[in-house]
Amino acid sequence: MLKFNLFSIFIGMFKQFQDTFTFDDVLLVPQKSEILPKDVKIHTYLTREIKLNAPFLSAPMDTVTEHEMAIKMALAGGIGIIHKNLSIDDQVAEIRKVKRFENGFVKNPMTAHPSDPMSKIIQIRNKFGYKKVPIVDNDGVLVGFISDIDYLMLPDNDEHKVLDFMFPVQKMNVGYEGMSLKEAYQMIQKFRLRTLCIVDKNNKLVSIVTRRDLEKSLLYPNSSKDSTKQLLVGGAIGVGINGIERAENLLKAGTDVLIVDTAHGHSRGVIDTVKEIKRKWSGVQVIAGNIASSDAAKDLIDAGVDALKVGIGPGSICTTRIVAGIGVPQLSAIMEVVKGVYNSQRKVPVIADGGIKSSGDVVKALAVGAMSVMMGNMFAGTDESPGRIEYTNGRMYKVYRGMGSIDAMEFGSKDRYGQAEIKEKQKFVPEGVSGRVAYKGSVSTILYQLEGGLRSGFGYNGARNISELQKRAHFVKITGSSLKESHPHDLKEVSSAPNYSID
Ligand code: 5GP
Repeated sequence: MLKFNLFSIFIGMFKQFQDTFTFDDVLLVPQKSEILPKDVKIHTYLTREIKLNAPFLSAPMDTVTEHEMAIKMALAGGIGIIHKNLSIDDQVAEIRKVKRFENGFVKNPMTAHPSDPMSKIIQIRNKFGYKKVPIVDNDGVLVGFISDIDYLMLPDNDEHKVLDFMFPVQKMNVGYEGMSLKEAYQMIQKFRLRTLCIVDKNNKLVSIVTRRDLEKSLLYPNSSKDSTKQLLVGGAIGVGINGIERAENLLKAGTDVLIVDTAHGHSRGVIDTVKEIKRKWSGVQVIAGNIASSDAAKDLIDAGVDALKVGIGPGSICTTRIVAGIGVPQLSAIMEVVKGVYNSQRKVPVIADGGIKSSGDVVKALAVGAMSVMMGNMFAGTDESPGRIEYTNGRMYKVYRGMGSIDAMEFGSKDRYGQAEIKEKQKFVPEGVSGRVAYKGSVSTILYQLEGGLRSGFGYNGARNISELQKRAHFVKITGSSLKESHPHDLKEVSSAPNYSID
């Protein structure tokens, strides 16, 4: 026994220590450039098949991403990943809200029958929030419409029938199946409609298109959408049978991508879960993580992933490196995983997850090979993040907590940290903390500043897009005094700057 121990110590003496770096350890050297920030294209690949118009993801954390955040992320060209500290039903409901938000053609809209009592219309509004209800007969043929304006005069009792109040189809402008969204919108504009009903050649209702959606698509031309013009959204799942059950439900709800969300992606459970998803639903896009080595990249690519998520311990609320002594500084971790992808036959995009403090960090993450960046802290504390605003000494805050914090683990995220079996709170070994961040207002402002910083960074590098940035990027290592020089200094106070945090 003693012999074995001594032998282990001896082996340990020959371990090599590799130099590693994170965002604050390096800077990008400016390059000759003819590129103006406005000419930069920031579109990218999230997975092998899903494109984004901006390389931003909001993290699947219970103080960051539910439907409100996911909607704003997709409208800005990125994507939000709905967290899994929810029952399957609740997570499904969150995904549905995103998919329904900006429908092009709303398929299978909620309808009523002409002989229904008017109270049914009120029920549809109260229960589902839909104020525009097409009226169809027993064969599904469109016979009329109740619009949101009609609500002002609607009696809420069973004596009146829908037939007495509906706007009859004979007086309606109706679109025909096969018309493009653009043609539908042209009809909406021409006839000043609030809603256009689309019917097939037998006059059966097929879908509706609303003016509100038209306005939204004009306001957000870069939003990330699927082929039916619905906003993109992702859903987090765990491993094993529970993960597969959750995946099945999220897919039915319309999620565009599944993220096998764990603290240790290079593990049997994650690899088997990815394989099982691909076996059951081969076309589904799957992201897995988190990892920090090229070996992990290779094993997950072999299992069938469509993108890899990198980050062991860089998160602002994360204590894995302290608790377990495990991690790789984030910039080096991204480079290692990119190397693993480079050496694999099947190429997949890499997502840099965690540790982003500013738009400059996003530029650095992309420059070393990431194709997109996931953020938690950056988007926490906004109007769109779940949770209430708290007031302390006249200042406003919102809670931001790690999914490995005791508070979040109690709500269900313990499986992310391999502690699913533990029942008592006192027995958890947390790998994250809970804290508060300053209230930041709308996430749209943050996204605007992030995009602006990114465009500026690309411009300094003379890069028109992400692949040019990756080719042209030239880094220098910096010292602690250089980092001090990089931040505002020698001022009595720093006045508010939207893209610079002094916390
Ligand atoms: P942030 O943007 O705040 O720096 O990092 C967010 C990322 O940290 C998340 O996307 C996730 O990968 C990771 N994360 C979230 N909660 C925890 C936690 O409690 N512990 C650890 N180790 N990582 C966490």
